[in-house]
Amino acid sequence: MAANYIESKIIDPTVAPELAVAGKVAARHAKRGVTPKYFIQTFGCQQNEADSERLAGLCEAMGYTRTSSPDDALLILVNTCAIREHAEKKALSIIGQYKHIKDANPDVVIGVGGCMVTQEARSTKLKMSYPYVSFTFDTGAIHKVPSLVLNALEKKSRQFVLSDNWTIAESLPIARESKHMAWLSIMYGCNNFCSYCIVPYVRGRERSRRADDIIEEAKQLIADGARDITLLGQNVNSYNGGDGCDIAELLHRIAALDGDFRLRFMTSHPKDASDRLIEAMATEEKIVKHFHLPVQSGSNEILKQMNRKYTAEAYLEKIAKLRAAVPDVSITSDIIVGFPGETEEDFEGTLRMLEAARYDMIFSFIYSPRNGTPAAKMENQVPHDVSTARFERLLATQNKISDERNRRFLGRKLRVLAEDVSKNDETMLTGRGDPVRPVHFAGGRELIGQFVDVEVTGVSTFCLEAKII
Ligand code: SF4
Repeated sequence: MAANYIESKIIDPTVAPELAVAGKVAARHAKRGVTPKYFIQTFGCQQNEADSERLAGLCEAMGYTRTSSPDDALLILVNTCAIREHAEKKALSIIGQYKHIKDANPDVVIGVGGCMVTQEARSTKLKMSYPYVSFTFDTGAIHKVPSLVLNALEKKSRQFVLSDNWTIAESLPIARESKHMAWLSIMYGCNNFCSYCIVPYVRGRERSRRADDIIEEAKQLIADGARDITLLGQNVNSYNGGDGCDIAELLHRIAALDGDFRLRFMTSHPKDASDRLIEAMATEEKIVKHFHLPVQSGSNEILKQMNRKYTAEAYLEKIAKLRAAVPDVSITSDIIVGFPGETEEDFEGTLRMLEAARYDMIFSFIYSPRNGTPAAKMENQVPHDVSTARFERLLATQNKISDERNRRFLGRKLRVLAEDVSKNDETMLTGRGDPVRPVHFAGGRELIGQFVDVEVTGVSTFCLEAKII
């Protein structure tokens, strides 16, 4: 296995003083007789959502309580994403909107963290052009937020942290968004350097948490009522927890814990989709039969230019193995359209990949160059109108396949976790089971957080309809 294992607890000597600082901030608020509020704006992926739950834990340790409105907050944290230029522009625009809050109340503290500010140029831009931002902190410095807040409160000076210190902050407090659905980060960073991707530069090299620490966290989550646990990592299936504990072993160990819960994992790289992992999914009842396996392109030339380290044929062999072991598995993928140099023939290779892999769903993107990545410097960038037209064809092809794939569930009995009230109809609940699409069914709020047996009565491209049985 790749040498990505770092002893956990390594940063505990750093976390402990930060928790003491959090206590100081809380005492400062208590002395003034105020109960300040915090607001966190999160952009990007599940890893950012998990990081924001840690930020929320730290805010609460500092004596702040959560608010859903930035106008009510005395501490505003923005957790940014850098995966696409659009995400950065959106974050900068939102940060711009917070100026009036700071103008109205100079005691408001505004901090910006995450992948965007882990790029020095962006951190500098915030320093120079956004004078009302009190501090920035990179993805390796979440645990330093209490010191940054205290500094902003007491010294009123600004700080811009670029620690470049990629390690693991264990034992940070976590304030989770949901009681019954939980993110469980098992590793951080990525070693793959896909030529279009900024992640290895803003999240550092792969480092895995110790398996025993993860198991302890899983036990606690289950005891606290979690029913759906997603193991998270940028390249989750290259997890290496030491002593031969790979992702398959870790899944077996968590699945063996007592309790009524389900396990998911994301995001996987095809080159690390091992037979052991497939076998774990096939044999462990608690693992949801859904495999997110991003292919990105169906053209071998483009895959080579992307530095993806597999061919379309090798990828389809993995899919065949997966379907042989788990016949009803739902498979999803990420696809990039319009990567530099993509010809019509390359794109048709991607369309053929959709037909061959028979995905239940795809997450598709038009290629967007990221400064600092090799692909951004490649010549022969594809004109936007060509990419857009291909994108439309991709969606039309996939929607037809998704429709056909969803139909297999019609009339089936499923066990789903009632997650929430439907966004479109207050009398309906939304749940998830093995199908990757949401399942809508009539039911009361008291069912939220419970497993419910339903029968599928209708299917469409984007969801399933069902009734409780
Ligand atoms: S595997 Fe590739 S696309 Fe995924 S995070 Fe790593 S570099 Fe980015």
